[in-house]
Amino acid sequence: MSQADALDYLLSADYTWTERAFELLGRRELTVTPYEGGGAPCFVVSGRCPRCDHHLVDRQVTTALTGLSGPSRGGDGERPAFVVLDVTCSCGSEHGNAPAGAIGCGASFRIAMDAE
Ligand SMILES: [Zn+2]
Ligand SMILES: [Zn+2]
Repeated sequence: MSQADALDYLLSADYTWTERAFELLGRRELTVTPYEGGGAPCFVVSGRCPRCDHHLVDRQVTTALTGLSGPSRGGDGERPAFVVLDVTCSCGSEHGNAPAGAIGCGASFRIAMDAE
């Protein structure tokens, strides 16, 4: 009955999780859904955590818009080239050694995608 195989909490932003998240996105086991939240573009990241495999839901306001398309600055109508979402696992499941108040396994990963 107990989840003997549940991973211990580990604060980790290893690139492995970003790579796995990318694979999960490709298999649609992890999804990113945009929505409008008070005028700012927001995203809901939903699906399997790349580390602990538990279901997580993470709501994000895009604060990390990164223009990577060259030195052109200050033009009107300029759009960010990429949306970068830094997600921290918030699966809500118990993980061993988790600090008080922790709601996930401690893994952080990054999702980068083209801005629409
Ligand atoms: Zn996790
Ligand atoms: Zn978990």
